[in-house]
Amino acid sequence: QAKNNGRNSIVWFNDRMSAELASRLQLEAELRQALAQQQFSLSFQPQVSLLTGRLAGFEALLRWQHPERGTVPPDEFISVLEQTQLMVEVGYWVFERCCQQAQTFTALGLTDCVIALNLSATQFLQPELPLRFASLLKRYQLSASLFELELTESTLVSHVSETLEVMHQLKAQGFRFAIDDFGTGYSSLNYLKQMPVSTIKIDKGFVLGMLDNRSDYQIVASTIAMVHKLGLQVVAEGVESFAHLQLLQQHQCDLVQGYYLARPLPQQALAAFVQQQVVQQHWPAALLTEVV
Ligand code: C2E
Ligand code: MG
Ligand code: MG
Ligand code: MG
Repeated sequence: QAKNNGRNSIVWFNDRMSAELASRLQLEAELRQALAQQQFSLSFQPQVSLLTGRLAGFEALLRWQHPERGTVPPDEFISVLEQTQLMVEVGYWVFERCCQQAQTFTALGLTDCVIALNLSATQFLQPELPLRFASLLKRYQLSASLFELELTESTLVSHVSETLEVMHQLKAQGFRFAIDDFGTGYSSLNYLKQMPVSTIKIDKGFVLGMLDNRSDYQIVASTIAMVHKLGLQVVAEGVESFAHLQLLQQHQCDLVQGYYLARPLPQQALAAFVQQQVVQQHWPAALLTEVV
């Protein structure tokens, strides 16, 4: 009986493995086509300064419109892209789209509006990355200072010397760096000290938890204080309510990003949003002061 069960579970395991492998290969094949068939797009989520109440910039977030399955969230396909070399090509596409968007912002009068974009470790280890970014900037006649490159702690610690080298090259061009999802990875404060970063993004897990969980609250409060002592800027992501915003303001968090302020905006919604921003020059006051 036991032997039989054992054999069955082995058969089941193999079937499951091959089913998973098949669906992964299918996903990979579909992702290969996605770029050529223009199924990728970027949504832009506003970041707001708590000091001035003004729009400070946007984070560009990748979206995949699958022909049958509809919008597939990045968490379901980024890791597959990363396991192949596809992430490298998609990464250049993302940066070029950000350049086009920066041109549009400038043309509309939204000057000094920073665009933050996410980079994967595979992308960052491409020796030609700094050159290709430089040539895109040249083609679109843009300053690197309009962009902030977001890296996660795992990217920073995976190939430290190579990563530092690329960071210094890009920094020399004028790019700024942010550490994304801060507090969830394995980087030590020693890396933080060495890396040429200007911004720390507190992971949304801590921010979402800080109203109910004392530890999350202490982590958020002490991270903001530490980041400021290091002379860096801090962004809180996952700001979903006025209560979050208020607490972050009390702790002098520099920038906020989250559903309470705005969802990531697809192309059309972004155009409408930007028109409104150009006229108002200010974030809707009702969002930044208590709504009763
Ligand atoms: P991330 O860089 O930490 O981006 C923030 C994520 O939080 C986004 O998820 C955003 O939609 C979500 N978010 C924003 N405000 C709120 C909020 O108030 N509450 C909650 N619960 N969530 C909020 P999204 O767009 O699904 O992206 C997931 C992750 O995929 C990103 O996390 C990033 O790591 C990765 N990603 C997205 N676009 C790219 C890209 O172009 N390249 C690379 N390499 N990775 C990307
Ligand atoms: Mg990010
Ligand atoms: Mg994040
Ligand atoms: Mg993330």
